[in-house]
Amino acid sequence: MYSPTAGPPGRRGAHARVPWRRALLRARFAKRARRRLDRPPERKARATRVASMRTQVAIIGAGPAGLTLSHLLHRAGIESVVLEARSRDHVERRLRAGVLEHHTAALLRDTGVGDRMDREGMVHRGVNLRFEGRTHRIDLEGLSGGAAITVYGQQEVVKDLIAARLDAGGTVLFDVDDVSVHGVDTDAPRVRFTHEGVKNELACDVVAGCDGYHGVCRPAVPDGVLRSFERVYPFAWLGILAQAPPSSEELIYANHERGFALHSMRSPSITRMYLQVEPDEELDRWPDERIWSELQTRLATHPGEEWTLAEGPILERSITPMRGEVIEPMQYGRLYLAGDAAHIVPATGAKGLNLAVADVRVLAAGLQRFFADGDTRLLADYSRICLQRVWRVQHFSWWMTTMMHRFAGDDAYSHRLQLSQLDYVTRSTAAATTLAENYVGMPLTL
Ligand SMILES: Cc1cc2nc3c(=O)[nH]c(=O)nc-3n(C[C@H](O)[C@H](O)[C@H](O)COP(=O)(O)OP(=O)(O)OC[C@H]3O[C@@H](n4cnc5c(N)ncnc54)[C@H](O)[C@@H]3O)c2cc1C
Repeated sequence: MYSPTAGPPGRRGAHARVPWRRALLRARFAKRARRRLDRPPERKARATRVASMRTQVAIIGAGPAGLTLSHLLHRAGIESVVLEARSRDHVERRLRAGVLEHHTAALLRDTGVGDRMDREGMVHRGVNLRFEGRTHRIDLEGLSGGAAITVYGQQEVVKDLIAARLDAGGTVLFDVDDVSVHGVDTDAPRVRFTHEGVKNELACDVVAGCDGYHGVCRPAVPDGVLRSFERVYPFAWLGILAQAPPSSEELIYANHERGFALHSMRSPSITRMYLQVEPDEELDRWPDERIWSELQTRLATHPGEEWTLAEGPILERSITPMRGEVIEPMQYGRLYLAGDAAHIVPATGAKGLNLAVADVRVLAAGLQRFFADGDTRLLADYSRICLQRVWRVQHFSWWMTTMMHRFAGDDAYSHRLQLSQLDYVTRSTAAATTLAENYVGMPLTL
């Protein structure tokens, strides 16, 4: 919440935590903003004056990273303001990931935002690998010591988090423009932005760059500070959402000589499916009939195995490039990068959202210590702790991608190697355990 006061670290905004004062400040701010918009043209010069406000943590981006961070900070009594470039409706409908690791689901549940996930999400205790037309189930629960994944759309997680923040009186500003960060190499960073036609400057103690791959935070770091490690895969994923009941109780990852296919779901009546396509593929080359025909071919089972793929109207379709990228370090001065702003993983491992949540869990814990008594040790270790998990996840996602996809120029020898690896993963308890513990997610350690 905005606070006009500036005290020592850990005390800032203390007044605004008193509920009545917070409400008063919010009402005053909204009134001032309305007045500025209603001003006649002759007073426009004054209207362009920059409004000042302050908070403890300025969070750029209302995706899973930014919203989870704001939620965790609120629970620790730390104020934040979330600035989002898109509308609330847009972020609540944006179709992306849908697999929650065991620890992600537990964190949402344990912090009071898991009720709808528990009611509507689908717990999967296994996952299927299909190759040469035969399906092999990996017992995630049995091999990981009791963990599972929850299938629950990213947009639903985002909806739940936005509702929780707003219900708690939190500040999430949508449709902000011209966001820029300043002074992150000092102990008094500022974020400038325009909201509802009013220019604002938000003073803060820390900036959290949770603004995804195309955000403004990473480019705000001076040249030469960050190092990027990148792997661009020579294919993309065509993803569809279809009004059709899932044809399997658990996900199916299919290796086929025509390319990878994934059968997933979002609800008992909605199927989510993906096809490996060319990296520069265009959606209009993929009419419904071609999509279904290719899915039927790549997901087909051996004559000895009964399985039918249910079809239905395609509700959404998109093409996502397959890339892996890591930025090191994930911090510069008082700017902390989290989620897709710091790393991208190919979607094969279903890790992007989970990694974003894991980052901000570390960041929230570090900020809690910082604001409690000025202890900066965990914050100083933020990048190192996160990167350990980030690289584990990069490796797992690369391994799954390499095992499941066809690469241009692959010969029969390469394909035999893939089949041998798949055979090993599905026959060997040791190899299957490796897949299971990575898929459900390694424990979140600080
Ligand atoms: C197109 C796409 C499709 C994906 N599909 C899948 C999938 O099928 N399966 C899977 O497992 N994973 C998928 N992912 C990965 C997963 O969704 C991401 O890893 C996850 O969204 C990361 O969360 P985040 O909060 O870090 O970033 P984001 O969710 O990208 O959130 C960043 C937020 O910052 C906002 N923002 C950007 N710039 C600014 C600015 N200047 N000022 C203010 N706000 C700003 C954005 O509007 C956005 O709301 C996909 C990712 C993308 C980009």
